[in-house]
Amino acid sequence: MTEKKQIKITKPQTVHLQQPAWDGVREFKVDRKGFEDKSQLACSFYLVPLDSQPLPAYLPGQYLTFEFDIPDTITQSAKKVIRCYTISEMPLAEYYRITVKKIPAPKDMPDLPSGISSTFLHDQINEGDVLLVRAPAGHFYLAPEMTEPLVLISAGIGITPMLSILHAALKDDPKREIWFFYGVRNGHEHVLKDHIEDIAEKHGNVNLHVCYSQPDEGDVIDRDYQHKCRIDINLLRALLPLKTFQFFVCGPKPMMESIVPALEDWGVPKQRIHYESFGPATVIRHEKSVQTTAGEKTEPLIVTFTKSGKSLNWDPSFSCLLEFAEANGIDISFGCRAGSCGTCESVLEEGEVEYNQEPDLDLEEGTFLACVSIPKTNIKISA
Ligand SMILES: Cc1cc2nc3c(=O)[nH]c(=O)nc-3n(C[C@H](O)[C@H](O)[C@H](O)COP(=O)(O)OP(=O)(O)OC[C@H]3O[C@@H](n4cnc5c(N)ncnc54)[C@H](O)[C@@H]3O)c2cc1C
Repeated sequence: MTEKKQIKITKPQTVHLQQPAWDGVREFKVDRKGFEDKSQLACSFYLVPLDSQPLPAYLPGQYLTFEFDIPDTITQSAKKVIRCYTISEMPLAEYYRITVKKIPAPKDMPDLPSGISSTFLHDQINEGDVLLVRAPAGHFYLAPEMTEPLVLISAGIGITPMLSILHAALKDDPKREIWFFYGVRNGHEHVLKDHIEDIAEKHGNVNLHVCYSQPDEGDVIDRDYQHKCRIDINLLRALLPLKTFQFFVCGPKPMMESIVPALEDWGVPKQRIHYESFGPATVIRHEKSVQTTAGEKTEPLIVTFTKSGKSLNWDPSFSCLLEFAEANGIDISFGCRAGSCGTCESVLEEGEVEYNQEPDLDLEEGTFLACVSIPKTNIKISA
């Protein structure tokens, strides 16, 4: 008798999934392009649909997924690259704006090429060019029912969803209490400085706190920034009044890993902490720190890649099945590595996987995203 296959995909929490506003990709023309910081690392692209049909609304904080055909002059071999970029404007009818930071090679590996898509956008894409764009998506957004005061915490290019959320919140209620914390190294990296300062000047209810961790000589405290430090929980505790807030956090991995658990420790309920990380970062939540409890079996789980014919012991030092597959020479296509674009959707033939981060999209029955999951039992993957 053949054993009955068991497939189970455990999601960490309920997801508010919406139908995409259009299927597949839609063509958008770059109507305008412009830098947003002194270093010219952050560049905005204003996108209008070629079909001239109205743009569907999106929830403030959501992103677009792009399919780039990157020419072989950049990658050595022409290839399709998929990346997500957040809409950095409030829901508007005429255009979508994205703001993209050019990602340099890692400091310890300066010989590597800079980020493929961000470099392509900055250096090759100009006004009039056409981009292929999937519909707005994502679970990191200001929902209409969230009417409480807001605390928006971001660093670096993580400011993009906060801009959208800030605009939308003020449009709904210009008097809403908003605390806007933004962290960068110094004035050279300060994205959309005048724009945000202007909003704060016009709205006494927007409390702007900019932190520079390494101010330059030309940076002036109380003019360009308010605090010489990184954003941390001590700053938040010192400044925020005790009341019910919705917290939104977006930034680099170290900031997320320090602030999200610290907010929980401070007593903020999880359902009022919303966070997003731009990339493969996985926020380590408290409950993940204990891997096994006394009496649990500790034999390694077996991961079988059926197409490749490889059965391997799962190594828990990998943060996800995608990384584990790559390290073992198994090819799974990927895009965002953050549970957002769906490129690494794989068929789970047997067993159970567990998500360490909520996927952003609705998946086919029996499939899972390899970039944000780990095995829970022995599993068989069609790869
Ligand atoms: C939901 C979501 C929303 C996002 N929103 C925004 C946004 O609003 N704005 C924004 O700027 N970004 C955003 N991002 C990030 C964006 O999608 C890309 O991840 C980012 O632009 C980097 O992509 P890239 O192709 O330029 O870099 P990649 O080519 O992916 O390279 C990333 C880094 O890896 C290095 N690298 C290259 N080759 C290797 C190698 N062999 N080994 C090790 N390292 C290597 C590169 O030098 C670079 O430092 C978002 C991401 C997500 C998931």
